[in-house]
Amino acid sequence: MITEEEARARIVDQVTALPKRTVPVAVALDCFAAQDYSARLPLPGFDNSAMDGYAVVASSCNKGCRLRVVGEQAAGPDRKLRVGRGEAVRIFTGAPLPQGADAIVMQEDVRRDGLEITVQLDIEPGDFIRRRGCDLVEGQTILLRGERIRPATIALLASQGFADVIVGGKATAAVISTGDEVVKPGEELRAGQIYDSNSALLGALLERCGVSPIAVEHCRDDGNSLGDTINRAINNDVVIISGGVSVGEHDLVRQSLRALGATIEIWRVAVKPGKPFLFGWFNRESVDSAGEMAVRQKCFVFGLPGNPVSAFVTFLQFVRPAILTMSSAMNLDLPQVPAKLAVALANTGDRPHYVRGKLEQGNFSAVGRQESHALFGLSQANALLRVAAGQSLKADEIVHVQIWDW
Ligand code: AMP
Ligand code: MG
Repeated sequence: MITEEEARARIVDQVTALPKRTVPVAVALDCFAAQDYSARLPLPGFDNSAMDGYAVVASSCNKGCRLRVVGEQAAGPDRKLRVGRGEAVRIFTGAPLPQGADAIVMQEDVRRDGLEITVQLDIEPGDFIRRRGCDLVEGQTILLRGERIRPATIALLASQGFADVIVGGKATAAVISTGDEVVKPGEELRAGQIYDSNSALLGALLERCGVSPIAVEHCRDDGNSLGDTINRAINNDVVIISGGVSVGEHDLVRQSLRALGATIEIWRVAVKPGKPFLFGWFNRESVDSAGEMAVRQKCFVFGLPGNPVSAFVTFLQFVRPAILTMSSAMNLDLPQVPAKLAVALANTGDRPHYVRGKLEQGNFSAVGRQESHALFGLSQANALLRVAAGQSLKADEIVHVQIWDW
């Protein structure tokens, strides 16, 4: 049995970034930039008005002065108007600043009489003008390789005129649930049977990592069906199998993988829940997109314990970093936030324990039964606290918890 840290390091070490893709900026949400981007335009691109009002020469304009309106500049093509002392140009938000103007008077601050305005307050140079480049200068870094593309990143790329963005690859994934007791939701439940909740859980967790599972299959606990099902899934970048990785006579995943020629790199990790976790791969050969060269690729296999909380924890700690690496992400860690521990907690066991709990207004308290089958408790939790083996934490102590609903 290896440590959690070693398992994670070995996984991330094996996995490589998939070929990058060029995608329209509008559909790049939650993808990761595959290269650095810098500004090719300043923001704003030109001096412009921050208000609907009048462009004026500040030094010829104090409270009570009267100015002659000599033209109008709307947002849009620059009419190259000019403003002199004693003059004003009617202007609107986002419109280019006329030559000679160095301030905008808000329309609320003037009285208009035909082609004349009376200014009702003192004006300073620079009032309500947005200067070229004050937000962003040309050449400034706007996006780093490996950074996640968020809604505002999309807006920034669009503001720079980028129609496309180069992002990391998108893994293809298959999910296989195993177990003679497991039945698809919607079907009739007989005595001794349970509904398959892991397929839905793993599909949703994959979606959160930007991957839509291509195939979701259920398989009985028998070697032949497992072999067939796994074989059909090998053409994906990732195969996630739930259940059947433990040590019972009905846990056949490991031997089925071996029989199909998989390399099993990790089996059993010192983590609670999730000890029977398995990681390995198949080498597969495919042809490149031009149909010419043979490309050697790996299909990574993750065997997660069937208990829902174990599947959840091992997905977040081991599968997520692998998928993020494939997608060219830089930060593989779940977000961590400081929290005050509500009640003392101790881990007397010999494995680190991920305690499920609720993070509310900066306080963390364990929630529900802390057993690996306790799905309801997990559903009420929004944070994980890792308590190291032998560690005791006092009430009111500041701890760092992992969150996943970011
Ligand atoms: P296993 O890892 O196959 O030994 O299963 C451990 C526990 O997880 C057992 O109680 C199973 O019934 C349960 N389990 C296995 N697969 C699923 C699944 N797809 N959905 C919900 N529970 C499951
Ligand atoms: Mg089973």
